[in-house]
Amino acid sequence: MEPIKALKEIKKLTTDYFTAAHMAPHNNKPVVYCNVFTPVELIYAMDMFPVYPENHAAIIGARKMTTELSSAAEGMGYVIDLCSYARCDIGWTKAGISPTWGLPKPDLILVINCQCGTLTKWFEVLSRLYNAPMVLIDIPHSGNGEEDPAAEAYVKRQLEELIKTLETIAGKSLDQAKLKQVMALSRQASELWTRMLVMGENIPSPMTVFDQFISMFPIVSQRGTETAVQFYRNLVQELEERTASKIPAVPNEKFRLFWDNLPIWSELGKLSGFLADRGAAVVTSIYTWAWSQLAVNEQDPLSDWTRQYLYTFNLNLEYRIEKYIELAKLYSLDGFLFHSNRSCKWISQDVMALRDAITERTGIPGVIFEADQNDPRLYSFENLERHIDSFLELLASKR
Ligand code: SF4
Repeated sequence: MEPIKALKEIKKLTTDYFTAAHMAPHNNKPVVYCNVFTPVELIYAMDMFPVYPENHAAIIGARKMTTELSSAAEGMGYVIDLCSYARCDIGWTKAGISPTWGLPKPDLILVINCQCGTLTKWFEVLSRLYNAPMVLIDIPHSGNGEEDPAAEAYVKRQLEELIKTLETIAGKSLDQAKLKQVMALSRQASELWTRMLVMGENIPSPMTVFDQFISMFPIVSQRGTETAVQFYRNLVQELEERTASKIPAVPNEKFRLFWDNLPIWSELGKLSGFLADRGAAVVTSIYTWAWSQLAVNEQDPLSDWTRQYLYTFNLNLEYRIEKYIELAKLYSLDGFLFHSNRSCKWISQDVMALRDAITERTGIPGVIFEADQNDPRLYSFENLERHIDSFLELLASKR
């Protein structure tokens, strides 16, 4: 397997980003903690520094520090049933260690509750621990994604209030020209990210979702910066060259699979090697597709953000079934891997109904396995391997 060279840059980008985050208070840049689906372009445009506790937690998982940090949170009274991201991030405040030297103290905590309820409670804990103000943007659940003008007005009003709060903390008004620049960079990064995802449609695929998971850092943490655009430009260029030369991500690609739910951060290397050894290329995932939908229009960004939070992240079952079936056709899929994630009930709740509906409508089988995005104490890797092995045997027998 020939590694993708552009991905080597991720380590440096991550180190530079966390160095800048820790320096932000010394450079008079207010630090804003936010969740991954927030209007981060506003924060950059206000010369503030966005920091993502979810991202911090994922890095803790990938560096295999969950047991130590989660145990610290459990010692504070946070039970193991709580999402492992929350446990890891809260745990560092007690244990005092983390692969990113922790996070700088926030001046503001911003949370948008279109993802899950856990985030709000987790960020409330951080708000109390740091004695920092918190803004909650409340997103009403819009049934099955039907348009709701009253809800749109409600969300948009809250975003207008958010701008006023950011202006008060930054001590200056929002510079509209700067916001447009940041939004343009954000859109370029999203477009490049999407081009990268689409390349998985090629047979053989030049990259797998494991490569995509590794490459996520800039689209999550640096959307709206030149750094993110440059990174994805280089990555896309390399992938186009690999596609033209038919260099596969997985030698002898035999099975083309879909990944549902979050990655298992602590097993990325092991799991991708296990699948590659069996000729299984995981070529797409609903998780990585989420970041292709975050660009906003410069004419009316508040309305675009409102619609994203209300409708795009409404994971209703019918929408998911349609989307997965569409991806199955585009990516010529042979099977679905459903990660039933002990931490993320938000994404895992409909997994059996989802699997059954897709198989019934497409004939493409799917396997459900229990695991956790961060906490290796909550699953057995050996069981997971057994499940996937039997599933690949089933796929082989259908040929
Ligand atoms: S429950 Fe899911 S959406 Fe919520 S913080 Fe955990 S992983 Fe993220």
